[in-house]
Amino acid sequence: MKAISVLGSTGSIGTQTLEIAEEFPEEFKVVALTAGKNLDLLLKQIKVHQPEVVALPEETNVLKLRDLLNDLDLTDRPKQLPELFSGLEGLEIAASWEPADIVITGIVGCAGLLPTLAAIKAGKDIALANKETLIAAGPVVLPELKRSGSRLLPADSEHSAIFQCLQGTPWAENARLSTGIPTPGLRNIQLTASGGAFRDWSTNDLRKVTVEDATSHPNWSMGRKITVDSATLMNKGLEVIEAHYLFGLDYENIEIVIHPQSIIHSMIELADSSVLAQMGWPDMKLPILYAMSWPNRIATPWKRLNLAEIQHLSFKAPDTTKYPCMRLAYSAGKSGGTMPAVLNAANEEAVALFLKEKIHFLNIPKLIESTCEKHINELRLDPNLSDIIYVDQWARKEVQELAQKNVRQFPK
Ligand code: NDP
Repeated sequence: MKAISVLGSTGSIGTQTLEIAEEFPEEFKVVALTAGKNLDLLLKQIKVHQPEVVALPEETNVLKLRDLLNDLDLTDRPKQLPELFSGLEGLEIAASWEPADIVITGIVGCAGLLPTLAAIKAGKDIALANKETLIAAGPVVLPELKRSGSRLLPADSEHSAIFQCLQGTPWAENARLSTGIPTPGLRNIQLTASGGAFRDWSTNDLRKVTVEDATSHPNWSMGRKITVDSATLMNKGLEVIEAHYLFGLDYENIEIVIHPQSIIHSMIELADSSVLAQMGWPDMKLPILYAMSWPNRIATPWKRLNLAEIQHLSFKAPDTTKYPCMRLAYSAGKSGGTMPAVLNAANEEAVALFLKEKIHFLNIPKLIESTCEKHINELRLDPNLSDIIYVDQWARKEVQELAQKNVRQFPK
């Protein structure tokens, strides 16, 4: 039995993780939860999973949660109420909670960085969903992994696919873990992309995109931020940087291929030109379960893949003119140092502005590009954590100012 700590338990990744824990009670026990503002759902989760500790970013919400727990009927109450913590310190306590064997990082955005680092420093295995942590702070996270012996087990479906394919290579001992060290014999990675909400829209149609359009994904059910990232294809760009840090490949050897059915979750090409692919239905539970259960496989009653039923799988090259975010991500990744942190923060801020209907969809890449260009002269190639946090804050402010100042250049 593995004890798990779930960061971001009320989100898409968090709720699916808890469904897995509920489905396989003999395999997983929940010991720690963190959430943001959704206290109603959190309360239900506490009743079902009875964690030892719960943390929230805001003290006021912890006080509200305490009242909600105290008001529960005796029949409804967990036998032992969880210890409650607040603020960043509280999130770090939950992330490094001593009994936990594995920490699932389902907080969205760079807010997950410091709690994830706390878990790494505590030597926990990490089921990594929160890609922004690695993208913004790869140069800080990788040495920390080495120091603590913590292992990154990818929960993102594409990186899980690569990780799963690598288990079958002859260099298993090296390949098993995602340490950023180049994997011998691994020549190339092909990340598959569904193409997002607008894959069948023309460039002209993209001018009419609404928030509702951009938050409906054709294949995957995910949180709002990552669904918009999928629509701009920034998600794929971020995944390229994530793959670079996880598997130690140069950017020239990480490719993107559009695969609308999302059945092949990604592929690796080996030195002898053999290509291995991992397949399955587009359901995040599978990569989450694999990260939680690695190196074992747990038998599930889940829907099985039937290729004869599917009949056709199709592929095409991505269109970087229609989707400039991919180009921006490659460029930021190649610049290295603090640039991916700037790209990530600018993207988070621009997506937040779009979700509030303050900017148009097509202005997301424009704001990111302007912010990255402005950072070139300030680039730090070997940043420490303070540098990362500084540029993250700077890029967010820059996007806000650009969006406000250049109303004409970045029309709503
Ligand atoms: P959601 O928006 O669905 O959930 C985010 C979670 O983070 C919620 O529990 C939310 O709490 C919590 N949260 C939000 N802001 C803060 C904060 N400032 N401090 C602490 N907690 C906070 O996101 P997803 O589950 O979709 O994504 C989570 C991560 O996983 C992202 O990094 C994403 O890129 C990655 N990922 C997601 C996939 C998916 O299928 N969803 C697939 C692959 C990767 P509350 O709701 O209570 O406010």
